[in-house]
Amino acid sequence: MQPSVPATPGLMGRLPHIHSMMVLLVDDQALVAEAVRRSLANLGDVDFHYCPDPKQAVALAAQLKPTVILQDLIMPGDVDGLDLLRQYRANPVTKNTPVIVLSTKEEAKVKAQAFELGANDYLVKLPDRVELVARIRFHSQFYLSQMQRDEAYRALRESQQQLVDSNTALISLNQKLEEATRAKSEFLANMSHEIRTPMNGVVGMTTLLLDTALTSEQRDFVETIRGSGENLLMIINDILDFSKIESGKIELETHPYDLRQCVDEALELLAPKAAEKGLDLVSLVDPAWPSMVVGDVTRLRQVLVNLIGNAVKFTAKGEVVVSVQTSPGRKEGTLAVHFTVADTGIGIAPEKQGRLFQSFSQVDSSTTRHFGGTGLGLAISKWLAELMGGTIWVESEAGRGSKFHFTITVRTTAQEAPAWQQPPAVLSGRSVLLIEDNAAQRQAIAQLARLWKLRLTECDTLAAAVAKLDDPANNYDLILADAPLLGADLALTATRLRTAARGAAVVLLLPARLRAGEALIEGVAGSLVRPHRATALLDVLVRALTGAVVQDRRAPSASPFEISFAQRVPLRLLLADDNAVNQKVATMLLKRLGYTVDTAGNGLEVLAALERKVYDLIFLDVQMPEMDGYEAARKIRAKWPGDSRERPCLIAMTGNAMQGDRERCLEAGMDDYISKPVRIEELKAMLERWGLQRPSSR
Ligand code: ADP
Repeated sequence: MQPSVPATPGLMGRLPHIHSMMVLLVDDQALVAEAVRRSLANLGDVDFHYCPDPKQAVALAAQLKPTVILQDLIMPGDVDGLDLLRQYRANPVTKNTPVIVLSTKEEAKVKAQAFELGANDYLVKLPDRVELVARIRFHSQFYLSQMQRDEAYRALRESQQQLVDSNTALISLNQKLEEATRAKSEFLANMSHEIRTPMNGVVGMTTLLLDTALTSEQRDFVETIRGSGENLLMIINDILDFSKIESGKIELETHPYDLRQCVDEALELLAPKAAEKGLDLVSLVDPAWPSMVVGDVTRLRQVLVNLIGNAVKFTAKGEVVVSVQTSPGRKEGTLAVHFTVADTGIGIAPEKQGRLFQSFSQVDSSTTRHFGGTGLGLAISKWLAELMGGTIWVESEAGRGSKFHFTITVRTTAQEAPAWQQPPAVLSGRSVLLIEDNAAQRQAIAQLARLWKLRLTECDTLAAAVAKLDDPANNYDLILADAPLLGADLALTATRLRTAARGAAVVLLLPARLRAGEALIEGVAGSLVRPHRATALLDVLVRALTGAVVQDRRAPSASPFEISFAQRVPLRLLLADDNAVNQKVATMLLKRLGYTVDTAGNGLEVLAALERKVYDLIFLDVQMPEMDGYEAARKIRAKWPGDSRERPCLIAMTGNAMQGDRERCLEAGMDDYISKPVRIEELKAMLERWGLQRPSSR
C-alpha cells in the first residue's frame, strides 16, 4: 500500500526514517533471531534489527523507531515481555509502535493480558514464514500510514495557523497602508499648497514683468521663467491628480459640451510646441454624429492634452492626428466615443508597452532624461478614461510612430448642434480649390466641406493647382491654400492665384510659427493660423465668400492687461491674503486692469474694513491666521442674510486645489472660487462674471 501524503516539503522532510518497514526482534534466543532473519532475508523493503538483551530493548526501540516490534514473552532475568510491553507504551517515542507478542504456546490468559497492555498481535513461535511476513507487513503499513496521516494533520494544522497568522498580518498591514495612503495624500495636498503659494508669486510677477518695457533678450528670459513656472505647476497638478485618484477623490462633472471644440482646444494648447518642431496637427471628427454631448469636458481635455502632448514630445517630424469616431452606447441615450491620437514619432517597442499605463513608469530612463516627464500622464489618462466609462490602449512599433486609443461614454442631449455643424446657405454649392500637401489635413477639410455642402477640389502641390486654374472649364469661388506651399513671396503668389482664378477669394492657412504681424498679406481675403478650430474656418470662409476681409491675428505676446477694464467693470475691491508676496501680486494684477485695491491680512481685518467702507467684491484667501477665509465668509453672510444686494460678492482665492475645496468654499458662503496661481485671463473672467451681473449701484 502506498500511503497518500500531501506533498508538502516539510512533511516529506520529516518522514525519511519511516518510509520503509523496520522490524525489531527482542528475544534472548539467538536461534529464533536466526530463523526470523532468514524469513525476512529476501525482502528488500524490510529492515531487520535484533536485540537479545531485555535491559536495552526500550532504549534501542526508541532510537531505531521500528515499524513493528516482535517481543518475546519469556525473557531471562527480572523483566519479562509483558514488562517491556508496558514500558514501550509508556515511552512517548514507542507508545504507538505496533508490538507482536511471541509466545511459546497458545495461552488464553497471557494473551488477554498482553492485549490489555497494548499488544497488537499475538503469535505462537515460530509461525510459518508467510504468516510472519504478512503480519509484519500489515502492522508496519498500518503504523506507517497512521504516522503519515498524523503528520499530514499536523502539517495541515500548522499551515492553517500560518494562514491565520498571515491573514492577521495582512489586515494590520492593510490598515497601516490605508493610513499611509491617507497621510501621503494629505502630505501631497499640503505640499501642493505650499508650492503653489510661491509659484503664484513667480507666475504672477513674470506676467507683470512682461508688461513692462523690456529688451527682446530680457523678454526672452522672462518668458522662459514663466514657461518653467507653468511647467512646474503642471507637474504639481499631475501629482495632485494622482493622489486624488489614489484616494478615490475624483468626481466627474456632467455638463453639455461640444466634442469637436474640446479636441480643437486641446490641439490649440499644444500648437506652439508643434509649430516649433514643424509638425502638422490635425483633427478628424466624424461630422455625421452629434457633437454636443453631456459629460466632463475638463477631464476629457486633460486626457487629450496628455496624449497629444506626448505625441508632440516624442515626434521629431511629421504629424499628430486626432480622430474621433462615435457609435451608439450600450445604454439608451448614451454614445460611445472613440478617440485616436496618432503620431509619426519614435514609437514604443511591444515589450515596453505593458508597463506604459502604470504610474511612475517610463519606457526607459534614457528617454526620460532626453524628454523629461514624470511618468504619471498615461496612468492618469487610463484612470480618467475608465472613470468616464471607457478604456485606453496603444498600438505602436519602435521607430514607426504610436497610436493611442481611448474610449469614453457620454450622454446625448437635446441641445442644438453647435454653429459649425449647421451649414450656412451662403456656402452651399460654392466651389473651393484646396492646395494642401498633407493628406490628413486634406481629409479634415474635406470632411467639413462635405458637411458645409461645398464643392471641393483637392490639390497637393501649387503646380497641380495652377494646372486646374489654367483649365477654362474650371471655375472656383475660393482658393484655400496651405501658406508654406506658396513659396517665399506669399503676397505675390496669392495675387497670381487670384488673377488665375479670375478674382476668386484667397484664404491662407498659416503655420502658427508665422508671427501675427507677418500675416497681413496683400491680396488675401482671409487667413487662419493652424491648428484652426472648425468654427474659425467656417467663419473665415463665410466672410471671404461674402467679401469681408478677415485676418486671424492670434498675437502670441499681446498684452492681456487693459487699463480700461475697470471702467467697463467698475468694482470696489478688497483683497485679503496673509502672504505679502501674494498680496502684492494680486494687487498689481488688479492695478494693471485699472482698479485701486484695499488689502487685509486676515478675516478680522476684512470685517473691520467692512465697518469703514462699502465693497462690491472681496477676494478671500482661505488659509489666514486669526480668522480664516471660511469663517470670514460665514460672518459676512450672517451680517447680510438671504440674497441681499448690499452684501459684497465673495470670491475664494486659494492654493488648495483638491476636490472638495471648491465645495467647502461654497458651503462657507462664498460665491465663487479662483485657484492660485491666479491667471490674468481667469481673473478678468471672474470680475466680468460678478461685476456685470451685480452692478455696483449698491
Ligand atoms: P511622461 O510624463 O514621462 O511623459 P507618460 O505616462 O505620459 O509620462 O508616458 C510614459 C512614457 O511612455 C514616456 O516617458 C514615453 O517613454 C512613453 N510614451 C508615451 N507616449 C508616447 C508616444 N506618443 N511615443 C513614444 N513614446 C511614448
